Amino acid sequence: MDLVEYQGKQYFARYGIPISAGRVADTVEEALAAAEEVGYPVVVKAQVQVGGRGKAGGVKLASDAGEVRRHASDILGLDIKGHVVRRLWIEHATDIAEEYYASFTLDRAAKLHLAMVSARGGVDIEEVAVSAPAAIARLHIDPLDGLGHLEALQLVTDAGLEATALEQAAAILVDLYRCYVEGDADLVEINPLVLTTDGQVRALDAKVTLDDDAAFRHPEWEFEDIVDVDPRELLAREKGLQYIGLDGSVGIIANGAGLAMSTLDVVNQVGGAAANFLDIGGGANADVMANALEVINTDANVRVILVNIFGGIVRCDEVAAGILTALDRVELASVIVLRLDGTNSIQARRMLEERASAWIIPELTMIGAAQRAVEIAGGRS
Ligand code: GDP
Ligand code: MN
Repeated sequence: MDLVEYQGKQYFARYGIPISAGRVADTVEEALAAAEEVGYPVVVKAQVQVGGRGKAGGVKLASDAGEVRRHASDILGLDIKGHVVRRLWIEHATDIAEEYYASFTLDRAAKLHLAMVSARGGVDIEEVAVSAPAAIARLHIDPLDGLGHLEALQLVTDAGLEATALEQAAAILVDLYRCYVEGDADLVEINPLVLTTDGQVRALDAKVTLDDDAAFRHPEWEFEDIVDVDPRELLAREKGLQYIGLDGSVGIIANGAGLAMSTLDVVNQVGGAAANFLDIGGGANADVMANALEVINTDANVRVILVNIFGGIVRCDEVAAGILTALDRVELASVIVLRLDGTNSIQARRMLEERASAWIIPELTMIGAAQRAVEIAGGRS
């Protein structure tokens, strides 16, 4: 889950990371009231889950109510890289002396956490990373060792931060590391981390990606969803399915993420396009299968459903029972091309032949099933 800036800042604040005073606003009037509360001058900031808002006109300074009105009405409704702005964050403006960069993420190749700090933060950090990679100081951190103040101090010194900023920046890094590890984030990034003209170090932006699989141990993760969520994905989430909506017309159900992705590839290879990714998991039972069919059935673009199951741990007769349950529960809008192989596949095929032959087109191989499905769907369109 990606948080928007103000949610990320609220998360930072729980770990003691200094941020500026601010308020959310969904209308121009609310923006004016928020500006009064936090005090002029303010920054009017678009809350969308995408970077580069500044360059896209989504971050504007305002020194009086007239400017807040103008910027708020310009930014609300603005489309930033496909994300429409519906909420603003109005923050008391900071006098910036220096803009730094700081982040923690997982370096999967090194199997260690990676800290990155630069004295050249701000809106051009991507360019710095390409043209002057040495300007970004890096430190790998063993999760068993953690990050101490002295190491953090060394890192910010290596990065070339101003002498007056070093102690505060190191303390923020230690807190940010705690936020990253204890807060179960996959990424925390502050860009810019600023040194103010009066010598304070503070986070002016926040990028936080939380690890959804850790949600069960974070009752505090009650972040209001302010982005447009795909209704298909919402339904799938309610039913506990691993589902990602796509644009094609072949609905896909497979067991195991690897098989599901291969199925997408094969559909593509034979000239079709998948309507979704859906992994019903290794231990899928009849109920899960029925839920999966129900979710796909709500997608108006779907012209055919391709079910590709390899029964290892999953038993094919359970899958067949799920299909029969689904046929009882919902009226399917399209036929199912079914490739079912592995444990108890013979019983499964018999069950389906007896009770659902009108809805099911069996195929023996994955490529054969994909070809058949794409034929029915009428190609890529
Ligand atoms: P991003 O473009 O999406 O990364 O949005 P940021 O929140 O990082 O803001 C972009 C830029 O706006 C920053 O790099 C700053 O230069 C500027 N900015 C943001 N907040 C303030 C502020 O309080 N005062 C001033 N002077 N500039 C700000
Ligand atoms: Mn930023």
